[in-house]
Amino acid sequence: MTYYKGSDELERSRKILMVSHCILNSNAKVEGLSQYEGIFKEVVDMIHEEGIGIIQLPCPEMIMYGIKRWGHVKEQFDTLFYRENCRKMLKPIIGQVKGYTDAGYEIIGVLGVDGSPSCGVNLTCSGNWAGDFSSKEDIEDKVRDLKIIESSGVFIEELKKYFEEYNLEILFVAINEDDVYSSLNDVKEFLKR
Ligand code: SF4
Repeated sequence: MTYYKGSDELERSRKILMVSHCILNSNAKVEGLSQYEGIFKEVVDMIHEEGIGIIQLPCPEMIMYGIKRWGHVKEQFDTLFYRENCRKMLKPIIGQVKGYTDAGYEIIGVLGVDGSPSCGVNLTCSGNWAGDFSSKEDIEDKVRDLKIIESSGVFIEELKKYFEEYNLEILFVAINEDDVYSSLNDVKEFLKR
């Protein structure tokens, strides 16, 4: 076989990062939470500079609850229905990941979104949210009860379970939903390690 400049075999990095859906499409986020217009360009540029490919994960909240959903806490998504549907969405992704790793490609990690009840890696939001929001006091009490805790979101928990089931050792990193730009150095270091 003759290689030439631009040949696939010379150019392909065989490195892939799995990223939460909204990093490439902020339109999926709960309305009011986006800090960039569409793509999180600064992060995508860093991934591009390292020659790394991307697998975009599905947005479980958008698929199951749509764009008119309220912001939720982890406890509201911690149901068998939600978990089973996360697994259904992840199954074809796991098939791809297995295919790549078996063929010698490197899945360098998963880039999630800390603070999300679904895609949080180190942090997720928690609270005793349920019932009727009919009075101002009820809303204020529920907002006061919202806290960030050290735990993964439901979707990431199911992804971690899948990795264990298939003996896939894949690292996680996250942008912080509270201030996405505060995470740029962490992501950069992760990509360069
Ligand atoms: S953090 Fe996850 S669930 Fe939330 S908008 Fe992004 S992809 Fe969807």
